[in-house]
Amino acid sequence: MNAPNETHAPDLRAWIDSANAPDTDFPVQNLPFGVFRRPGDRARIGVAIGDQILDVAVARGARMLEGSGAEACEAETLNGLMALGPEAWTELRAQMSALLREDGGGRSAAVVREGDLLVAQRDVELLLPARVGDYTDFYASLDHATHVGSMFRPDNPLLPNYKWIPIGYHGRASSVVVSGTPVRRPSGQRKPPEAEAPVFGPSRMLDYELEVGAWIGAGNALGETIPVADADRHIFGLSLLNDWSARDVQAWEYQPLGPFLGKSFATTVSPWIVTWEALAPFLVEVPARAPGDPAPLPYLDAGSTARHAVALTLDVWLQSAAMRSRGLAPLHVSRGSLAGMYWTFPQMVAHHASNGCNLRPGDLLGSGTVSGPEPEARGCLLERTWRGRDLLALPGGEQRAFLEDGDEVTLTGRCAREGYRAIGFGGCGGRVG
Ligand code: CA
Repeated sequence: MNAPNETHAPDLRAWIDSANAPDTDFPVQNLPFGVFRRPGDRARIGVAIGDQILDVAVARGARMLEGSGAEACEAETLNGLMALGPEAWTELRAQMSALLREDGGGRSAAVVREGDLLVAQRDVELLLPARVGDYTDFYASLDHATHVGSMFRPDNPLLPNYKWIPIGYHGRASSVVVSGTPVRRPSGQRKPPEAEAPVFGPSRMLDYELEVGAWIGAGNALGETIPVADADRHIFGLSLLNDWSARDVQAWEYQPLGPFLGKSFATTVSPWIVTWEALAPFLVEVPARAPGDPAPLPYLDAGSTARHAVALTLDVWLQSAAMRSRGLAPLHVSRGSLAGMYWTFPQMVAHHASNGCNLRPGDLLGSGTVSGPEPEARGCLLERTWRGRDLLALPGGEQRAFLEDGDEVTLTGRCAREGYRAIGFGGCGGRVG
């Protein structure tokens, strides 16, 4: 499943012109899954191809797709397809690739039904792709953990467990929303350092976190574990994820049990799930740990040659209400890489299940903020402005320490490698208001 196959061949072209544009996120080599709704219709499973969506159930009804994977796509969420496991995903992907590629057999048959087989992305509503039973957020970037730790504990930025355990907390599934959903500024308790008592009111330190979310496919039974070497077979795919955070609420509440209301008011995901199989050309070996760092314990060690890291470049864009009204383009705030994370998604999956906790199809695992050492690679405003010390200058003269009402944050992500077609994730956006 981790090796590129014929569906990744760089010279494949689709019979849908927009999928052949060099800058599209959705060439025929990608084929990400989502859920969409035409006006007045039910939710349906689709696959992004260029600026269009392939209606999977319509393709199955026309006998262009068959098998258990295609059958599971009659549903209104992806949970059923996720539960089937990698063999069914691979079978369906191969059929879809053959259907959509320029030299495949699907074109002539498909054109007959093009009216309902394809729909323009701009004409539909994109929905949350799966029912999220449980959402867990990790903390897998050593740079992020070190930066945040040094702000709060200058003498001891990194806690002693960090290099042994993929740190995480159980988040809130009910407030996971799809890109484009407005984010209401939360109220909460905050206690300024100089104040004697906390106050309750709107957060003054609203932030985003640039993350990637892994969607669990087939799960594990309660009491069973998932070996790290097999853990990638339990990952259906990845979306972009913004873990909105109220830093003032978080700072007052997080000890001793961890994040709570400073996080649970909203988590935004991108609507398209790029499958783990689509990422095969971009899976790379995990970077070697620094001299002196402990080796992962055996249950977290897939070996130095396991290609469990993802060479995914991530960008953050910010546009204020004033910028929008003046027609100013969004500001590029930071760029990070998922490949440099200290812990991989397979390690997070194996760790999560290591006590026998059952993961289920559609569970969502956040990577934690993706940050690098340089200021331009810091994936949240807390780090980017160093808690408000280094204000961010916006085009038009505004400045930001944290988010203001009307600010819109958009995450984008793209995988590119010599010899392969670049693929992308589409946008993950949300406006504060
Ligand atoms: Ca987070």
